[in-house]
Order: sequence, then C-alpha cells, then structure tokens
Amino acid sequence: MSEHDDRASGRVTERVRRRVVERTCAWCGQPIQITPRTTHRRYCTQSCRQRAYEIRTATARQERDRQAGRARPAEEPVREIVRETTVRTVTRTVQGPRPPAIVQERPILPERAWEVALLLGHAHVAVRDGVIPDHDLGRIEHAAQALLRAIADRRDASASLTSRAH
Ligand SMILES: [Zn+2]
Repeated sequence: MSEHDDRASGRVTERVRRRVVERTCAWCGQPIQITPRTTHRRYCTQSCRQRAYEIRTATARQERDRQAGRARPAEEPVREIVRETTVRTVTRTVQGPRPPAIVQERPILPERAWEVALLLGHAHVAVRDGVIPDHDLGRIEHAAQALLRAIADRRDASASLTSRAH
C-alpha cells in the first residue's frame, strides 16, 4: 500500500526523523557538516582531534600524579625561596705598559734611486729563488721592460738636448 493510498483512505501517519546535520568542532568551534556516516564526528580536523587528545591525556596524567602525591594540588600556591646576592664591581685605572702599536704593511712606493734599486734587488732575488710563481713572471717582465724603455727614452732625450746645444 502506497503513501497516496494511505492519504486517500484517511489513515495518515507521520514519523519525524531527527538527524544532526552540523556540529561545532569540540576544539576550535568551526562548524562540521555531519552526514549519516559521520554522526559521531567531534573535531573538524585531525589536528583539532590531536590537540584535544593531548590536553585530555595531560590532565589525566596530572590527576594521577596529584593522587600519588607527585604533583601539587590545584589549590596550593607555588612557593618560592628568594636568595639575595649583591655583586660589587670596583673599577680602578692603573698605569701599565702601552700595548704594541699595530704596524700595517704597505707596498713601498719608491721615489729615490736607491729606493728603486732596493726594490729591484728584492724583485731580482724573489724571481731568482722561485718566490714568484711561474705564471706571474710575465707581469714582472713587462714592468721591467717598461722600466728599461723609460730609461732609454730619458737617455735619448738628454742626448738630443746635448747635441742641440752643440
Ligand atoms: Zn576544529
């Protein structure tokens, strides 16, 4: 017998079904949609479930420890012992030896003939004894050739001056 037939015959029965369709998350309060398959769901996400679980187990642990005398009762205040220590710092100025001055090494910039000769002497020894690596020898060679050219130019200039004077 169908519903339509029931109405026609005047025997109308009604059955009210109640079903939760939404519930707030027991941890964060966000709404959760409830379906027939998830009627017992209490948390919106796994992380909310985990946080609630952590609080529950921690509270249970604390209660067990209180009963065993390992934890302070909730109504008991935290007690403190304060130890006071005074530190006195006296600063005195005393005269002592001066710290050594920091000497900075600087490349020599020779201007006088003896300074140039000294530098070239050092360069000569450095090249001869292999202190200058092979791949850097060309740079010294170029500089030395430029120096020799400059000397030759100066000689030429002074020679032409002397000849003009004659
Ligand atoms: Zn939640």
